[in-house]
Amino acid sequence: MMWSRSLLDLVRGLRRAGARPSSIRRVIVTHFHVDHSTASLMMYYMSGAELAIGERDLGVITGGVEEYIEGALSLFLQNGMPKSEIEEIRKAHPALRLREFYEEASSLEWRPLRAGDRLRAGGSRLEVVEAPGHTPGHIILKLPDNSVVVGDVILDGITPHVTIHDWDTDPLGDYLRTLSMIVEMDPVVAYPGHRDPIQRPAERAKEIILHHRKRLDEILSILRNLKMTTGYDVARRVRWRSRYPRWEEYPAPEKFFAMGEALAHLRRLELEGLAERVEKKGVLYWKSA
Ligand SMILES: [Zn+2]
Repeated sequence: MMWSRSLLDLVRGLRRAGARPSSIRRVIVTHFHVDHSTASLMMYYMSGAELAIGERDLGVITGGVEEYIEGALSLFLQNGMPKSEIEEIRKAHPALRLREFYEEASSLEWRPLRAGDRLRAGGSRLEVVEAPGHTPGHIILKLPDNSVVVGDVILDGITPHVTIHDWDTDPLGDYLRTLSMIVEMDPVVAYPGHRDPIQRPAERAKEIILHHRKRLDEILSILRNLKMTTGYDVARRVRWRSRYPRWEEYPAPEKFFAMGEALAHLRRLELEGLAERVEKKGVLYWKSA
């Protein structure tokens, strides 16, 4: 339902902008998430357009989105989340429910985009800028007037989700660096993947940086209060902005977001030398350093 609604909005928007959907030459996908990529195959079959996406997100698609999500779920298990809750998440996850799309997408030829690539679009030129964090290969597109297509890097009113799929990565660190880059770039306007254009993108990026610094402080104080705890216990104790008062009432997607965010923050605290993890019988425990 959601999917057909987005496709309808997309085609209607193209018509309004004076473009015939069948004449589209290239579809640039900012990141691999279902709500940003699944209509691209429809556009491809409708027009024969070239498909393009950031190199590292293309790696997620060709490496298997299912394996990628399972990587996160195995970290959740290792960090103390009960198997029953992991099973709930597995059943509800949109990327797993749309696995057929990703299987088909991985069989097609995509153009991998890298930092500095320049693309023609209509009468304009777009520069590809790598903006990892929300996904590993998220890209943004800079226009000559210093406006920018930001996908889900900054959004108004909601903070984009950051999660972790592999301990050898630092998605929150990547994301904070991306946000600082937006502050430095100081775009005149940002066109996000959800909601209205953002008129003061650098200010919004600063607000999101502050949000994560506060969240890091909150998680650090949870670790200081408890001697040793699991990532799951941390996720349950954080004061998430949720309409559900108790963890038990959270729907599966909210548990996925909360657990992923908590672990991405713990990993950042670890790299900042403020938290340590200890493994005991296959379970990871966290303490302040
Ligand atoms: Zn997204």
